[in-house]
Amino acid sequence: MLIENYREVEANIVKACERSGRDPKEVTLIAVSKTKPLSDIEELASYGVMEFGENKPQEMKEKIENVSKPVHFHLIGHLQTNKVKITVGKAVLIHSVDSLHLAEAIEKESAKRDFVTDVLIEVNMAEEETKFGLSSDETEALVREISKLPHVKIKGLMTIAPFVPDPEENRPVFKAMKELLLDIKSKNIDNVDMDILSMGMTNDYIVAVEEGSTMVRVGTAIFGARNYNV
Ligand SMILES: *Cc1c(COP(=O)(O)O)cnc(C)c1O
Repeated sequence: MLIENYREVEANIVKACERSGRDPKEVTLIAVSKTKPLSDIEELASYGVMEFGENKPQEMKEKIENVSKPVHFHLIGHLQTNKVKITVGKAVLIHSVDSLHLAEAIEKESAKRDFVTDVLIEVNMAEEETKFGLSSDETEALVREISKLPHVKIKGLMTIAPFVPDPEENRPVFKAMKELLLDIKSKNIDNVDMDILSMGMTNDYIVAVEEGSTMVRVGTAIFGARNYNV
């Protein structure tokens, strides 16, 4: 049963908070439903689960249009400018902004609708070549540029840590993310909140919570393995 998996992840988050002296209310669990059928979302939603994550705008759009409950969808995957139109006004939060070009496209679409879109800046903290996101050195400068866009609101930072056999290996990555968040927060940039730290997936969410994550994005531990060949 999906809800049992979900509750187990929740319980692990609570324990990680207890170990690190944090309030579990600071941490939001996002159930990453990408590739999974709408019926899985409906099942969890019937127990009151509200936050879901998708990595493809088109798939997210279809699920939003068909889901029967007022759940929230987070766009957690890479966003191309030509998909901004179907994302703005649909995703409750876009986790993956990594260029001014993309932010400007979101600005344009949001302005048309007289709407402010909440976003996170994606940081490639481990500097993996295969990943999207900017380096930590570039982050503050991009935050400052995007902060000038009136219909885009930066709420914090996101990272996808490397896939590692031992989640402890990602602890320094999560620590560095928290430091970067606090450093930029201390600059008090207008129109910028640095309160959300989106990090931690099935393999490493416990370590991420211990290091200050406020949003974990968990798919496999809730829904089981994904099959990309169907
Ligand atoms: C798929 C995905 C996740 C969830 O991954 P799991 O390992 O299944 O928990 C989290 N974040 C992003 C950006 C993803 O694309």
